[in-house]
Amino acid sequence: MPNDCLFCKIISGEIPSKEVYSDDHVYAFYDINPAAPAHVLVVPRKHLSAVNDQSEEHEALFGALIVAANKIVGRLGLEKSGFRYVVNTGGDGGQTVFHLHLHILGGRPLGWPPG
Ligand code: AMP
Ligand code: ZN
Repeated sequence: MPNDCLFCKIISGEIPSKEVYSDDHVYAFYDINPAAPAHVLVVPRKHLSAVNDQSEEHEALFGALIVAANKIVGRLGLEKSGFRYVVNTGGDGGQTVFHLHLHILGGRPLGWPPG
């Protein structure tokens, strides 16, 4: 892992976080600066810098990310009201942490198009 990666440090426990979900492939925690009443980050334990930092072997990992997110949505009770998954990528995409993560946003109506 890159030793300066914030999310690798969160996964290892070096930096504290509020855990929401954990399994062999995925760790999920509350966003420190929530953009909605429900805002969770779902992160692969393996360091990938972005959603397109991929090879064939990562197909299963991307599946695990969405399956975990769907479980979390259920736990947070967002299924009925709706929610949004966001993967910011690169500069124009607004990515600030370069360890792949999926945002789960919900708990209020979300505007479209995004800013
Ligand atoms: P992005 O802009 O898509 O790269 O998302 C990075 C997210 O990480 C932002 O929503 C931040 O609020 C969040 N974040 C940054 N540092 C922490 C931290 N220590 N714990 C939890 N969330 C964090
Ligand atoms: Zn990392």
